[in-house]
Amino acid sequence: MSLIYLNETQQQIQTLAREFAQRELASLAAERDRESRFDRSMVAQMAKLGFFGMLTPEAYDGLALDAQSYLLALEEIAVVDASAAVLLSVHNSLPTQMILNFGTETQRTRFLGPMARGDTIGAFALSETEAGSDAASLRCQAVRDGDDWILTGTKAWVSHGNEAGVILCMARTDTADARRGTKGISTFILTPDLPGFQLGKKESKLGLRASPTLQIILDDCRVPGDRLLGDEGKGLIYALGSLDHGRLGIAAQAIGIARGALEAAMRYAVDRKQFDRPITEFQAIQFKLADMATRITASRTLLHAAAAAKERGEKITRFSSMAKLFASETAMWVTTQAIQILGGYGYVTDYPVERFFRDAKVTEIYEGTSEVQRMVIAREVLAAAAAADGSLPD
Ligand SMILES: Cc1cc2nc3c(=O)[nH]c(=O)nc-3n(C[C@H](O)[C@H](O)[C@H](O)COP(=O)(O)OP(=O)(O)OC[C@H]3O[C@@H](n4cnc5c(N)ncnc54)[C@H](O)[C@@H]3O)c2cc1C
Repeated sequence: MSLIYLNETQQQIQTLAREFAQRELASLAAERDRESRFDRSMVAQMAKLGFFGMLTPEAYDGLALDAQSYLLALEEIAVVDASAAVLLSVHNSLPTQMILNFGTETQRTRFLGPMARGDTIGAFALSETEAGSDAASLRCQAVRDGDDWILTGTKAWVSHGNEAGVILCMARTDTADARRGTKGISTFILTPDLPGFQLGKKESKLGLRASPTLQIILDDCRVPGDRLLGDEGKGLIYALGSLDHGRLGIAAQAIGIARGALEAAMRYAVDRKQFDRPITEFQAIQFKLADMATRITASRTLLHAAAAAKERGEKITRFSSMAKLFASETAMWVTTQAIQILGGYGYVTDYPVERFFRDAKVTEIYEGTSEVQRMVIAREVLAAAAAADGSLPD
């Protein structure tokens, strides 16, 4: 039973992703996490199902799914392996969408097919060590040299940066004034074969340990002129706009993590006896389970309402930030409760809830921290209310 209405295709995608995740991903998720191992064979399996081209048009070998089907699949993957989910979320929502929306036909034909087939993984390089929430302050520079561009700087926190064959990189092309807000920054389609492209430090992380996160060093990296995406100077606008979409994916990931933790906690609580009875008979445990389930359902309902609005072509900046904020804080809260329900067993690696707890935290940080989401939501609701004489209809 689902509170959100799902059409037949959406139900089929949900079932396909659930069965695949349970059958192929679940058994090795803990091992991949323990060994911080990115699993290429898992990529090949997900590619066979078309998961790297979920939102890509059929003309470029994609499945051309609607946003809700895509989010349902991401949730199912995240229920067992949040690292696999972030790979699919970043790949499908940021580099793929940006090339699709702003690329030339030549760029689309060259890059989108291999990406949709899962032969080439896409990554997104906006952040720098000194430019996180304040992305507009980035320092990586791109200077023209004949028909080419020379890129210099270090991008930070690039998810699966060492596995990617296509990296969308934001760099400053107007170097005259380093504080021009969203202007003066352009997006380039990088490939690791470019001269001067190097991998930097690999981060050692609290969670998402099977998803490598790296710095990318651009040491006078020579980039052909035809790798500029869209218009010069509009790269940050493209990137921030694409995050509206990306944040839906992170919300789905957070919901999956929370659901994984709730399901694990329920399985445990039914079996665990204290004071001669299953702990599910204690109201304290029942109320935790009730609150966990309620928050997860509320998160999913908000997310899918936002996704449906996107499908209708509406601007969803406010709602995608709300969905990401609510789902990520739900994931953190639910995973904390799950550990409490398992008591000491929640704190050790024999059970998956400590992994869910570690994985949940980053959903409150990447693609905009919770504070940044609140800033976006406040800006949007104030503007909407000002335009409607103070009322705020959704
Ligand atoms: C595992 C992982 C994967 C990532 N993957 C990618 C990726 O693939 N591509 C990419 O480009 N980036 C990626 N990131 C980077 C991520 O998007 C940034 O970490 C995030 O945007 C926050 O930036 P920061 O870490 O520099 O924190 P900061 O911006 O320095 O923020 C520090 C704290 O200050 C708060 N803060 C900052 N400004 C304000 C303000 N104006 N008002 C109130 N509070 C504020 C923040 O909310 C936060 O609590 C990843 C990060 C992680 C951890």
